[in-house]
Amino acid sequence: MCIINFLIMDFKLTSDQQELQKVAREFAVNELTSLANEMEESASPVPKDVLKKIGELGFLGVNAPTEYGGQGLSNLDAIIILEEFGKISSAVGWPVFEANAGPVKVIEHFGTEALKKRIIPEVCKGEKVVAVSMSEPGAGTGLTDLKTKAEIKGDKIVINGNKRWCSGAGHSDGYVVYAKMSDAPAAKGIGAVFVDLDTPGLTFGNSERLMGWRGIPSADIYFDNVEVPLENLLVEPEDGFKKLMETFDLERCGNATMALAQASSALDYVKEYVQEREQFGKPIVDFQAVQIKLADMLMKVEASRLLIHRAVFNAANGLPDILESSSAKCFANEIAREVTTSAMQLMGGYGFNKEYGMERKVRDAFGWGIAGGTIDVQKVNIASAMIGRRFNQRAK
Ligand SMILES: Cc1cc2nc3c(=O)[nH]c(=O)nc-3n(C[C@H](O)[C@H](O)[C@H](O)COP(=O)(O)OP(=O)(O)OC[C@H]3O[C@@H](n4cnc5c(N)ncnc54)[C@H](O)[C@@H]3O)c2cc1C
Repeated sequence: MCIINFLIMDFKLTSDQQELQKVAREFAVNELTSLANEMEESASPVPKDVLKKIGELGFLGVNAPTEYGGQGLSNLDAIIILEEFGKISSAVGWPVFEANAGPVKVIEHFGTEALKKRIIPEVCKGEKVVAVSMSEPGAGTGLTDLKTKAEIKGDKIVINGNKRWCSGAGHSDGYVVYAKMSDAPAAKGIGAVFVDLDTPGLTFGNSERLMGWRGIPSADIYFDNVEVPLENLLVEPEDGFKKLMETFDLERCGNATMALAQASSALDYVKEYVQEREQFGKPIVDFQAVQIKLADMLMKVEASRLLIHRAVFNAANGLPDILESSSAKCFANEIAREVTTSAMQLMGGYGFNKEYGMERKVRDAFGWGIAGGTIDVQKVNIASAMIGRRFNQRAK
């Protein structure tokens, strides 16, 4: 007897996912739209009471295990929700990104049981936000050149050094800190520890004046003999950096989703705008040049979403593959810049006016293509995975 297996590829969301998306969209549109405008003006983060409400609705632990207070759903479910928050603004979506795709995942995958029990339920409830602190003044793309040291001394880990560009610095409740933990060269010497906000010796620089991402305060972090208990150890050298980069494959998909959200919301907005705005006595959508721009924007948005959904769907509840996650991030970062600037152009003078919110999407879109690894370094990852070997970036 011949048994034929049919492989069914279905690009539609399930009815449960469509419902999840609808609930997230309605909440984000109704409850966060005016808050996003206020945060843009004040450059302050999501207020604590709003964060709690987001947590109560389950949006901060979508793909976290139920034993730690999460919903136990898939990465794809988390990404679907994240896009809805990111469409309102990068700043209101930030805690959802950090919880479902960012540094909290490092704690979930590699933290000690005590740390997981202490931090993840609080994040899910909206009572804590966790940020990631990797970059340093001399270690950006070349991240393995870290100088900040974390030394295990008895039952403590002692941290000394300076960090840069930490989004959420100063107002986040905890930090996943990458540090040099042994004398082994480059990646082999890197580990990571969790540091609580109120730890003595931990201080922050002034808030950076960034081009976008207002409402996600960013600053330097200084560690002066900061002591944390051993239970805060996340990963140790030898294979620690490799593990961190594996969780970063999910962070890349979160970054890609936030970039996509800038593009998809720009397209949603401008689709209505071109049908309402009239010139020469007819809606501007009647001009073929406008139609061509819309078609280009739509194809980019849809292709980007497919790349992201493929990467997270294939990972199920685990961690995505580097080729798929880097392709998703790189493409989303590029199209977010293109689609938002096209939308701004289609709105003429109104696109250039802060009142209409489009210029914010343009500025924010540029940030996502630098944060979490630049567009070009994603291309190095992609080529490396495609050829099947690593290309040494070092001078010697
Ligand atoms: C909005 C924003 C938010 C951020 N949030 C955080 C955060 O929360 N935590 C954190 O730790 N960091 C954060 N960062 C820092 C971010 O990760 C770094 O800015 C990024 O990795 C690039 O490092 P760099 O700025 O030092 O640039 P550089 O590494 O100096 O790169 C400069 C240019 O050289 C290119 N380049 C460098 N090396 C290579 C190479 N080998 N191949 C090809 N091109 C190369 C880069 O692509 C880039 O165009 C954030 C940055 C931004 C802009």
